[in-house]
Amino acid sequence: MGRLQALLFDCDGVLVDTERDGHRVAFNEAFAKKDLKVSWSPERYGELLHTAGGKERMRRHFDETGWPVAERDRDGFIKDLHKLKTDLFMALIADGKLPLRPGIARIMREAIDAGVTIAVCSTSNERAVQSIVDVLLGADVAPHVTVFAGDMVKAKKPDPEIYLMAVNRLQLDPAKCLVVEDSHIGLTAADAAGIRCLVTKSSYTEQEDFRAATKVVSELGEGASALELPDLESLLI
Ligand SMILES: [Mg+2]
Repeated sequence: MGRLQALLFDCDGVLVDTERDGHRVAFNEAFAKKDLKVSWSPERYGELLHTAGGKERMRRHFDETGWPVAERDRDGFIKDLHKLKTDLFMALIADGKLPLRPGIARIMREAIDAGVTIAVCSTSNERAVQSIVDVLLGADVAPHVTVFAGDMVKAKKPDPEIYLMAVNRLQLDPAKCLVVEDSHIGLTAADAAGIRCLVTKSSYTEQEDFRAATKVVSELGEGASALELPDLESLLI
């Protein structure tokens, strides 16, 4: 691989469909543990995602459908439920129950074999990102992946800081790197860092504006239609 020096992956929505397969599932498990008879479908959760923040999302749901507790108990109820949900989310990752998106493990192994540098650049919680890398990518891949996450940078995406940090610390040439993102915000960060970007759309980002992307696909995929390492390298030309 002469031209492709590094692949820089976003985490949430790229390595895993975190919202649909992780956070949504953990909310539903928390509701079940509390006998709440609430279960959010992928469609319902898609509506609730317009509200930022997990606690705020639950408040909105109960505002719309009725609260199971008295008004004075609402704050404590939401706080407890959110703590339980967070623990259940971390357990989903630790137990390997959050599925990797199609083609991720394969493309990483191809990159390792070709001597291409791999990093994960996310402005989400560092513990969750590192855990996703360690547990889901496994012992043969994870040691080859450098993680840049969470509080390492002051400005979150769409600011390019996390990508600039990766390029700087790993001593990469931005023209020889490719970012993989699933959202408009992530694409904007890559673009501002001067790095070409492949978008693999995820459940809740399908309708976003990806006009700045080098290429847009639904997933890296497996089998005949899969994007392989030479296909990614050709995006740099
Ligand atoms: Mg993302």
